[in-house]
Amino acid sequence: MDNLRLWHKFLETIKPMVGPDNLKAYFIKTILKSVNENTVTLNTSSAFIKESMEQKYQTLIEATFEKLLGKKVQIEFIVKQIKDQIPEENGFFKPQTQASILNQKYTLENFVVGPTNNVAYAAAQAVAASPGASYNPLFIYGGTGVGKTHLMLAIGNAIAKKHADFKVNYCSSEKFTNDYVEALQTKQFGLFRNRYRGTNVLLVDDIQFFSGREGTQEEFFHTFNELSSKNSQIVITSDRPPYEIAKMEGRLASRFAGGLMVDIQTPDFDTRVAILKNKCKEHNYFLEEACLNLIAASVETNARDLEGRFIQIIQSLKTKGEEPTVENIRKLLGKKQESLKNLSPKQVISLFCDYFSVKQADLIGPKRQKGLVLPRHLIMHFLSEELNLTVEKIGEILGGRDHTTVMHGRDKIKKLILSNREIQKNYIEIKNNLSTLIS
Ligand code: ADP
Ligand code: MG
Repeated sequence: MDNLRLWHKFLETIKPMVGPDNLKAYFIKTILKSVNENTVTLNTSSAFIKESMEQKYQTLIEATFEKLLGKKVQIEFIVKQIKDQIPEENGFFKPQTQASILNQKYTLENFVVGPTNNVAYAAAQAVAASPGASYNPLFIYGGTGVGKTHLMLAIGNAIAKKHADFKVNYCSSEKFTNDYVEALQTKQFGLFRNRYRGTNVLLVDDIQFFSGREGTQEEFFHTFNELSSKNSQIVITSDRPPYEIAKMEGRLASRFAGGLMVDIQTPDFDTRVAILKNKCKEHNYFLEEACLNLIAASVETNARDLEGRFIQIIQSLKTKGEEPTVENIRKLLGKKQESLKNLSPKQVISLFCDYFSVKQADLIGPKRQKGLVLPRHLIMHFLSEELNLTVEKIGEILGGRDHTTVMHGRDKIKKLILSNREIQKNYIEIKNNLSTLIS
């Protein structure tokens, strides 16, 4: 039995004898530091707690450890600030209060279902209905802002609502990594493992950030195995499918693929309108159908951008004291679109070069390396789509290229943007960066 488990056994044993208040005041704030031949060392966070425990509970503590260890031991106290989370906080001893970890704003009920996310939604429903039994793990992937985190938290919330005693742990993959690194430094592996392996539901968001982190991946592999052997539900999100995550260990990727993989694509027009309706309800705001359509048509990227645009619009209207009419909204949207047009080709090229870390001379020059072709094609597309430049003009700007070359590149990338998430993501990010240049 490791120290943590022993300590929890201990807490469970004495709980009825000391009562919940004392347990909370003294024992929960203490950790079992070490067990030697004949000494058990307890770490308390203050001298006050130490003295109180010695006075009140010395005999009980000794007797309980004797029972658990099957031998007489001495109890030794050290007073030292406790760095790692104490058991109650990490939720081992008491079921975690769900409110503290999951954002309850996100539910299955307020997730808008459309053709681009209905498969993921159905899977989420199945997992929420029978955690650990239907699809394990559930792996949800898709570009930014399409609703992955929403759906994942909705699963967690639905399970927590149905099973009050379940421990549901949501973490970003960065949090998992940081906790792991901290456990390495403080050697508090018991607590770390317990936090992640002692749950009924583990939700890990944006797992692509595990890329290249071998230690974390190794640890997660074991976490994964232990959880799935106990039929604990695992839900993972990523911006791409497991095998496309660079530097992801094969055995981990194949574990991910062993359950159900579903993707969410960028929402179509009707879904965007429905999402907007939801956002209106959430914000207690009314927009007539024509206004909703107008906004939905102006944001083709994802739900997050859509929400951003919606909030931007209602705020602008509020500060101007204007009514949300079609004309007023059109004006606001028009301004936004106008402003991208005001960028100079030079600004565009320079930002694309920064984004892809390529030299402007190379980009404009004749080299045909892969790393240059993608940004070049994206620029062609952007200059044509957003700045409305002719293919001839674009060819001229890009170092005197022939207009047919431009046409070819532009059309090729247009298709790629629709089918390739990574490229789509790049393009959206660049567009966002460019729009900050003007606002
Ligand atoms: P991701 O994790 O995929 O980047 P999020 O889950 O954070 O995206 O979603 C971004 C925002 O869009 C959130 O506010 C979320 O509630 C909202 N959203 C995304 N998809 C939907 C949907 N289908 N229905 C309602 N809201 C959605
Ligand atoms: Mg997310």
